[in-house]
Amino acid sequence: MATDMDERRTPSDQIGVAVLGSTGSVGRQTLEVIDRHPDRFRVVALSAGSNLQLLRQQVAHFQPDLTTIASETGSPLTGLGRVEFGRDGLIAAASHPDAAIVVVATSGHAAIMPTYQAIVAGKTIALANKETAVCAGELIVPFARERGVEIRPVDSEHSAIWQSLAGSHGDDISRIILTASGGPFRTCTAAELAAVTATEALTHPTYSMGDKITIDSALMMNKGLEVIEARWLFNTTYERIEVVIHPESIVHSLVEFVDGSQIAQLGLPDMRLPIQYALSYPRRLPGLSQPLSLTRIGRLEFAEPDLKRFPSLRIAREAGMAGSTYPTVLSAADELAVAAFMGGQLRFNDIPAVIERVLDRHRPEGAISFESIAAADGWTRSVTSDAIHEVARLD
Ligand code: MG
Repeated sequence: MATDMDERRTPSDQIGVAVLGSTGSVGRQTLEVIDRHPDRFRVVALSAGSNLQLLRQQVAHFQPDLTTIASETGSPLTGLGRVEFGRDGLIAAASHPDAAIVVVATSGHAAIMPTYQAIVAGKTIALANKETAVCAGELIVPFARERGVEIRPVDSEHSAIWQSLAGSHGDDISRIILTASGGPFRTCTAAELAAVTATEALTHPTYSMGDKITIDSALMMNKGLEVIEARWLFNTTYERIEVVIHPESIVHSLVEFVDGSQIAQLGLPDMRLPIQYALSYPRRLPGLSQPLSLTRIGRLEFAEPDLKRFPSLRIAREAGMAGSTYPTVLSAADELAVAAFMGGQLRFNDIPAVIERVLDRHRPEGAISFESIAAADGWTRSVTSDAIHEVARLD
């Protein structure tokens, strides 16, 4: 019965999707998924930062009702249809009346308020932006729950947990086990880690991602941020979240239940799969990614993370447990320290040292709010360059 209905879909049955961050890695792959299922999904709004060339191609192909750009440009914007700018533009895209799902793949803090506004407007959120859950999870997640708005994770690990939790009761969960590739340097000694260059760090073994997230993965900071995201997205405690190194990135994460059963989601590493599931849930659609052959993979490895060589995982967990605006400071200090590393100002293993210094100096003010998050982000940006110079001088 359902199949018959599906085959007779008309354009009005299409699910309207707003894609925030359409020219980034997740945004581009979201559009690939939508392009694979033009009968089901329709792009109603596209928001991009500064890659106008790609944005123009996307607009020509998907014909959205609204296009938004991070800031006003000097050049004429022919061929983009209706255009809005900046934060107001992002919010207009996030609350577009024809959007049922808002894919939040914009990078940085810029995603937080548009996500909030999308929840106010009752949109289903497909969340790929880290800052929203890391810095503002304490505000955003309960607010969405109150409003009956679904937040569907896009990140492969959180999607795997979400898929593994299907049909379970919250009280029956004993642990969430996040898998981590361990990055390209997981077998390096401390001395080798000190000598890692930006070029080496940008060669990630499995996923194709943006530069910042690639460095974060090599540091295992990315996994630390994912622990904080998991704490909020799955309403659990830090004690119940574990990290396991799994270099093949086939088991995308697991859930352990009180009876000892562990349920995992497996697949070849391909972001298009979790992106598509966040769009098609609760249904599954034929995908763009290749099916997994376990016999071809042969063996899967698992190991405990080494917090001595990769202290970022510990630092992130501690910031998460400290709560309030500490995760915001962690996230912003990490962004700046990674940029300093890519600019040749810091060595690879100086990055966590800088972050820890800034966290030590932070004193949260009052209860967490969107204002205190913005203030902590601003404070971090004003003090991190000092910490970078101090750590660089120690080398
Ligand atoms: Mg991930």
